[in-house]
Amino acid sequence: MLSLVGVAVCAVVFSYAHAQSQSPQMAHRFLPIAPGVYSAVGTGTLSVVSNSCVIVNAEDVLIVDSHVSPEAARVLLREIKTITDKPVRFLVNTHFHYDHANGNQVFNAPIDIIGHEFTRRKLLGDVLAKGTIFAESLAALPNQIEQLKQRAAAEKDPAAKARLDQQVRVQTAYAEQVKEVKPTPPNVTLNDHLTLFRGEREIRLVHLGRAHTAGDVVVFLPKERVVCTGDMLVAGISNLSDGFVNEWPDTLEKLRALDFTDVIPGHGDPWKGKDKIDHWQAYLRDIWQQTKKLHDEKVPAADAAKRIDMTKHKDHYPNITAPGVAPIGVVRMYDVMDGRADR
Ligand SMILES: [Zn+2]
Repeated sequence: MLSLVGVAVCAVVFSYAHAQSQSPQMAHRFLPIAPGVYSAVGTGTLSVVSNSCVIVNAEDVLIVDSHVSPEAARVLLREIKTITDKPVRFLVNTHFHYDHANGNQVFNAPIDIIGHEFTRRKLLGDVLAKGTIFAESLAALPNQIEQLKQRAAAEKDPAAKARLDQQVRVQTAYAEQVKEVKPTPPNVTLNDHLTLFRGEREIRLVHLGRAHTAGDVVVFLPKERVVCTGDMLVAGISNLSDGFVNEWPDTLEKLRALDFTDVIPGHGDPWKGKDKIDHWQAYLRDIWQQTKKLHDEKVPAADAAKRIDMTKHKDHYPNITAPGVAPIGVVRMYDVMDGRADR
């Protein structure tokens, strides 16, 4: 069953790549950020969803985040061989979310999986249960595929139609690939920090406080001045469903205090500098204040989500086109305000 899915995906990847460029297209681009440090970004031929960072050391390789499915992780491990023949020795989970940790199970001994104690607890617990971000994403998947099919059928431009057809194939394959997931927790945990010395490379894993989840870990390379931020800071608007929006700006202040230039985020392209910290802090403080007011007026969370207006942040977040925010984030903020979110 699984090998058949793999064959189907390969066939799709090959035929698409063949049509595009006459050469097989990989599922990742490995963007060099510093010597031996890469951002692995999906090319769209496979559902990977989140970025991974690849850190090639003197003798071994450390990977940050394992993608959205075991299949995506296997393809990552295969394609890393195009940039290094050194063995993968460590996987780091920036947090427990499915799109960063669903590939964990293919990282077998002697590879160590490192993450926050909270991440281990979550991955041993109810991450697949109803109401979690993973369950919600799976519930939405059939409808998403159906809408992509309808858009593809209606599309007149051949190039745009080819892109939509590819998305249909990729998402349909993902719906099968995800059935294989067995949540696999870190076997090495940290609370505050843990530092790895691999040859000349110093790799600091630090928990700066609660933010996107209660167990966010950032990976900081002090010599190369690179930081992998997971979803604490991404190119766009990060999901708030397991966040501590009230504490997040202070945690970002601790991120700012690290001496880095290059950022590899959990989603989106890498960038340089610290300006995005200001933009994201401003967004978080604003959404928390607006939510608090509606919460104190006893407005139900679903109604509050429609009324919260973040349009003044649209210069930094072009996806914002009208008032209204994702209800799941508002429900979470209400939980935090009511003391129902201790995790
Ligand atoms: Zn996340």
